Amino acid sequence: MFRVELDRDACEGIFACLVRDDRFVEDEAGLATVDPDAAGVVDVDREGERVIATFEGGVDDAELAAAACPPNAITVRAEDDTTTDPGGER
Ligand code: SF4
Repeated sequence: MFRVELDRDACEGIFACLVRDDRFVEDEAGLATVDPDAAGVVDVDREGERVIATFEGGVDDAELAAAACPPNAITVRAEDDTTTDPGGER
């Protein structure tokens, strides 16, 4: 799982994100948001103009969407850092 933040204050409605990850959709205001019913969307919260979502799977698509966004309105990061690394210690 990973966390996706979409800053709608920065979003310019270019929709480069939509074609790279269909969990991003256009809303009635003409800005991008996250479809809470899309496959791979675990949770969507809204804090003002900030959309905070938890995605499951398809991190490559989300990262492509973030990279394609001209105003960098999308941030993708690991939800939690509980990954174990058994090879990390000798
Ligand atoms: S690519 Fe960026 S600016 Fe364009 S709609 Fe998506 S979030 Fe908004």
